[in-house]
Order: sequence, then C-alpha cells, then structure tokens
Amino acid sequence: MTWTDQARNGRLLIVDDAMENIQILNHALGGEHEVLFALNGEKALELAHEQRPDLILLDAVMPGLDGYDVCAALRASPDVLGIPVIFVTALTTPEDETRALEAGAVDFITKPFNIAVVRARVRTHLTLKRQSDAMRELTLTDALTGVANRRSFNDTLDNEWRRCARAQAMLSVIMIDIDHFKRYNDAYGHQAGDICLRQVANAMVPCAGRTPDLLARYGGEEFVILLPQVGQQGAETVAQRILASVRELAIPHRMSSASDTVTVSLGVATVMPADGHCDADALVRSADHALYQAKESGRNRFCVASCVQQ
Ligand code: GH3
Ligand code: MG
Ligand code: MG
Repeated sequence: MTWTDQARNGRLLIVDDAMENIQILNHALGGEHEVLFALNGEKALELAHEQRPDLILLDAVMPGLDGYDVCAALRASPDVLGIPVIFVTALTTPEDETRALEAGAVDFITKPFNIAVVRARVRTHLTLKRQSDAMRELTLTDALTGVANRRSFNDTLDNEWRRCARAQAMLSVIMIDIDHFKRYNDAYGHQAGDICLRQVANAMVPCAGRTPDLLARYGGEEFVILLPQVGQQGAETVAQRILASVRELAIPHRMSSASDTVTVSLGVATVMPADGHCDADALVRSADHALYQAKESGRNRFCVASCVQQ
C-alpha cells in the first residue's frame, strides 16, 4: 500500500461558518475521504464526540465558539484529544499561526488556499494519525492473547473509578487465574500452554461484552475484568458465565486436582467509589484476596470479597 492509499478513506470534519468554504473543501476532499461538516463551534464539538473524525479542518474566526475555543475544548477531553486539527483561515500573521499551533493545531493553512496543497497536507496528517493510532493500539494490547494489557487496565480503572464516583454508580472487578497452569505447561509443553492461554482469553471475551467492560491480561496466567456500573449480583453473573465458558472449552488437563479439563478460579469485588471508603488499588486487592479464597477452597469456582477496605 502506498503512502497515498493509506491516507484515503479517513473521516474528515470541516468546520466553517461560511457554507461556500465548506463546499470548496468538500469538492476538493469529498472524493477521497468521508466528509462531515459543521457551521459553528458547538456543532463541531458535538460531531467530534459522536463521530470521532480522523482529522478536523477548522476555521479560526466564527461567531460563538471560535476555532481557538474549539481546539482548546478538544484538547481538554480525553475522548477526542488525539484528533489532529488543521486551522484553515484568512488570518495570516505569524502571531495568528503561533496562536493556532499553541492551541494544539498540528498545521495551519491560509485562505485563499491551493487545493493540491490542502489535499497533500490532509493526506500527511491522516497517515500520521493512522500510525499513532496503530502505535497506541500496540502499547495497550497483550501480544499473546490480543486482549488489553495491564497498562490499559490500570488507565481504564482510573478513568472508570472517577466516572463511577461522579455517577454514584457501582464498580466491580473480577480477578481470574487458570488452575494448576504450571502443571499444564509441565504436562503439555509451553507452546500448548500459550495456545491454552489464547483459548481461555477468547472464551472470556463475550462474557463481559458491554461497551464499558474491559477484559485484560493482568500478567502470566492471570486475567482481570473491569465492570463499570455493575453491582455484586451482576459481577457474580459474569463470573458464572466465565466458569461455564472455560469449562465448555473442555481442554484436557490430566494434572489438575480441580477437574480433568482446564478451569479457572475467580475473585469478585464490588465498591461504590462515591463512598470514599477506599481507592482503586484496594478494590483490586480485595478481588485478588477473594481469588485466593477460591483457590484455597478447591479451585474451579468464584468467591466474593465480603467488604472492600483500604
Ligand atoms: P494455581 O492453581 O494455584 O493458580 O496454580 P498455577 O500453577 O496456575 O500457579 P503458579 O503461579 O504456580 O504458576 C503459574 C504458571 O503459569 C507458571 C508459568 O509457567 C505459567 N505461565 C505464565 N505465563 C505464561 C505464558 O505466557 N505462557 C505459558 N505457556 N505459561 C505461562
Ligand atoms: Mg494459576
Ligand atoms: Mg497465577
């Protein structure tokens, strides 16, 4: 795939209070990219959040929220922070350009613009965006199983903790550990162990499939599930589902004391972050403690932390 091909098909948001400017840019870019447009800053922010464009072409001077305000609002919001913004404006002084770049724009194009130059710059920034998205994806994914990694879990836990505290909602965590996995490696080899880890991860993915749920590999043969806005009963349902899904894989494990197939043990913990009794680390520790109890009481089961304390 060539540099140009890669930049095709991105989704652009064009923001300008003059419809004719939008039409000119749409004419220049619409054949190559999907184009959304907004005639004011408020609508631009709404579309940025709802449609997640790959690039925003932003007019600087508009009534109401101007381009600088829009840029600042985008930079302040984690969901849309990564969307590159190119200012397209009749303002031409170095001060204007500096102000745009300082507001967080990646580029600055002055009107009247040359269509070929606009196209080329759009392609360049779309390619860079794609590369940074791919890099981000890699840093947040576990290479063996394809589920989120521990770093991604920690970031999401912090965000969801705050979100649930604001919403007065419950937050649950389930720690999951494969039973007698050392013996599995010893009996079937490390490569078979890797395949087993992938199968177990895949089987768990649909067990917590709502949008805010997150399954991550916590390390080794240990996984964790974050369930925002889910109370203890809901978390127990997910734990039951996981036990059943892993059992249904029916992967033979002749050295396990828990079953003749691969099984998992789970620890469930639930808190109300708004109560302020503990922090996110205490929630994970409690789930881990409940997991330890599940191991102690025979494996292939889940235990629930009775209370979460600092
Ligand atoms: P328990 O039921 O008490 O959890 O016993 P266990 O053997 O599963 O627990 P232990 O912590 O003693 O051993 C974990 C094993 O998991 C040791 C290690 O060889 C294996 N393991 C960890 N990461 C990987 C991996 O990426 N691939 C493979 N194949 N094995 C792994
Ligand atoms: Mg284990
Ligand atoms: Mg372990």
